[in-house]
Amino acid sequence: MTAVDYVVVGQGLAGTAVAWHLRWRGCRVLVVDRGDPDSASRVAAGLVTPVTGKRLARTPGYDELYPAAVAFYRRVEAETGRHVFTARDAVRVAADERERAKLSGRTPSASAGVVYPLARARGSPEAAEGSRPPLAETEVDPDWFAAPHGAFALSPAGRLDVPAYLDASRAVFAADGGFVAADLDPGRDVIPEPDGVRLPRFGRRARGVVFCQGFAGRSNTWFPDLPWNPAKGAVLTLRIPGLAEERVVHRGIWLAPVGDGLFLAGSPYDRDDLSPTPTARGRDQIVSRLREFLRLPFDVVGHRAAVRPVVAGLQPVFGFHREYRRLTYLNGLGSKGALTAAATAAAVVDLLVCNF
Ligand SMILES: Cc1cc2nc3c(=O)[nH]c(=O)nc-3n(C[C@H](O)[C@H](O)[C@H](O)COP(=O)(O)OP(=O)(O)OC[C@H]3O[C@@H](n4cnc5c(N)ncnc54)[C@H](O)[C@@H]3O)c2cc1C
Repeated sequence: MTAVDYVVVGQGLAGTAVAWHLRWRGCRVLVVDRGDPDSASRVAAGLVTPVTGKRLARTPGYDELYPAAVAFYRRVEAETGRHVFTARDAVRVAADERERAKLSGRTPSASAGVVYPLARARGSPEAAEGSRPPLAETEVDPDWFAAPHGAFALSPAGRLDVPAYLDASRAVFAADGGFVAADLDPGRDVIPEPDGVRLPRFGRRARGVVFCQGFAGRSNTWFPDLPWNPAKGAVLTLRIPGLAEERVVHRGIWLAPVGDGLFLAGSPYDRDDLSPTPTARGRDQIVSRLREFLRLPFDVVGHRAAVRPVVAGLQPVFGFHREYRRLTYLNGLGSKGALTAAATAAAVVDLLVCNF
């Protein structure tokens, strides 16, 4: 048995950030991932946006989470030699006069302020909903987009190239034996002991395990009662001849340039069908919403779907097993993993390193 400090199960946005923070704290880490091609992280567009959702409120804690995310991705870039995060303001096209009033800050916000997401339980429900400061008006090209109610700058914003980030991180982990591609069975492969865990099939002993399985964690027998509220989403890849917009454009759905004349578009929320299979319904929802504001014809050249790991409360959750404290999980990154993973994983690693 080789000793490591921690085993991280899952190398999506959650597990990758946990592994980096552990490594930066001097821990020896083994990451185990089975390579689900339709995990949320492999399908996600990686958008980091201050204002989302129907309320058009600023994401609670954004002013702390965004700089933490950028600093984290820049450090990963320095270690991997690969560019993964592009900071660029995005645009929100107002769908009607009501939205325009909200975006320009003319309607009073229900919020009392912002709170750090993990502190939701301590903040008032109002504060946790986010504030609604006025946004600056911006232009979109009228040949490309219909915006009769105006457009507003979303700032600061950016996009994580998630596959590049995951692959580059994996290469660094694998280079020193810190990564293994395998399907780990939590109930059979992880044997808790008083001072740690044993993973006989992997020939490892560790101080603890962090399960970062996303929606697949729903079948983890150590943690059967997370309050799941998952939501399937879909992303289309589009070819849009003549469109040279470099910003991500939001209008209920979003359209994101990814280079080579290609754009990603998404993403609906489906709480009934929780399979990762792309559906005609998901595709039609995106296409019809897109046609409401995109003036150019387009071809759909790709279509993927995945389930967002959302839990009740809409915030990331970290927990210890009731009896075996060396078994822990980080999950619930929901629809904002690219924004929240860095700061959340840093907080988790603080807890781990201080407790074990
Ligand atoms: C359509 C869609 C679009 C999205 N767009 C955005 C966006 O633009 N911006 C944003 O911030 N977020 C977005 N999200 C949300 C984002 O994808 C999630 O917040 C994030 O990816 C969750 O990461 P995770 O690591 O918790 O889970 P996952 O991405 O599901 O990763 C879990 C990993 O664990 C591995 N695994 C699971 N079980 C095992 C096991 N037993 N053994 C070994 N390995 C295992 C899987 O292979 C996988 O690699 C989107 C999600 C969807 C579905």
